[in-house]
Amino acid sequence: MAGLRLKKIEKVYPNGFKAVHGVDLEVRDGEFMVFVGPSGCAKSTLLRMVAGLESISGGEMLIGNQLVNTLPAKQRGIAMVFQNYALYPHMKVYDNLAFGLKLAGTPKAEIDARVKEAARLLEMEHLLDRYPKQLSGGQAQRVAVGRAIVKRPEVFLFDEPLSNLDAKLRAAMRVRLTELHQALRAQGRPATVIYVTHDQVEAMTMGERICVLKDGTIQQVDTPTALYERPANAFVAGFIGSPEMNLHDVQLQLADDGAAFAWAGLRLPLPAAKAQRLRARGDSPVKLGLRPEHLAAQPGAPGALPVPGTLRFLEHMGNEVFVHAELGGLPFIGRVAPEALGELAGKQRGDAHVFHLQMSACHAFDAASGVNLLL
Ligand code: ADP
Ligand code: MG
Repeated sequence: MAGLRLKKIEKVYPNGFKAVHGVDLEVRDGEFMVFVGPSGCAKSTLLRMVAGLESISGGEMLIGNQLVNTLPAKQRGIAMVFQNYALYPHMKVYDNLAFGLKLAGTPKAEIDARVKEAARLLEMEHLLDRYPKQLSGGQAQRVAVGRAIVKRPEVFLFDEPLSNLDAKLRAAMRVRLTELHQALRAQGRPATVIYVTHDQVEAMTMGERICVLKDGTIQQVDTPTALYERPANAFVAGFIGSPEMNLHDVQLQLADDGAAFAWAGLRLPLPAAKAQRLRARGDSPVKLGLRPEHLAAQPGAPGALPVPGTLRFLEHMGNEVFVHAELGGLPFIGRVAPEALGELAGKQRGDAHVFHLQMSACHAFDAASGVNLLL
């Protein structure tokens, strides 16, 4: 068992491109940590540096208490699962699982025990006699995970392992991998996991903690709930959550009684506590943030602010409706229950409507840096 510590980790590729800028991070022993961020933010680079597949240009990397900067990949006690998991086509599943252990000279009985245990954990005992071409995508991916499990690594690294699966299988595998992590913990041999994905839903549902990356720098590390409720900046706020948080550049306007967001003739007063925290900035540009669930079609939520706008369209999802509105010329998305549409249900594109904004839940970010001004 081992945690990881990354101290001021840097990566400069041979062509001079600096991909990782001073990353400081602790991954706790037995923790399920997710790296999430848009394509190119250096998720894979960081993971490959942990694995020992990519050299470290600066800083210190510790696994357990051992400095591993120059330790060969094989000696790091790590197993990695990639997006493209090439199984050996001419070997049955059993032998695919056993192959690495055979190479390492593990005794036959021990190999057999580990293969069967992995198969049981991944509920694929019935697949052991099949060849890869007889497996579905999800089954093949389970074998790839099994190959990592039999190694009994201290640390599991996953690089977008579900990207090649269709949406339904991805959802099922998310649950399976989470359950696997919990099963190992329950057996008293917790596994430290770093799981890389660009998919914020995967991050939110699987991560005990999530590390949000952008351009090779950490934006925030925290639990899914904390990231959602208390994003450190506008980037995290916009990246986490679906539909995305409404984020718009507006003016902060002070008045004797408080402060308000203002644009295009609209003025949205802020609740006293939030206004108090923003007053010192004076009249200035800010970025307002409002999650879709805080824009309603009807009055109801106590303290909701009526704001006149127009309807663009309604996107019916079945259990909820995404309300696309325009407020003072800016696009906003609301997310409401179908039965909470009220009069809006009968309206057409361009019709006027009074929407209701729960300002107690709004965010304010610095217009330039994006830093959350209300944390
Ligand atoms: P992610 O996995 O988040 O999509 P990567 O870690 O693959 O991102 O890449 C991070 C950045 O480093 C990207 O801008 C990518 O183009 C660059 N990069 C990756 N590999 C190399 C390389 N071998 N040489 C130069 N630049 C690279
Ligand atoms: Mg990648």
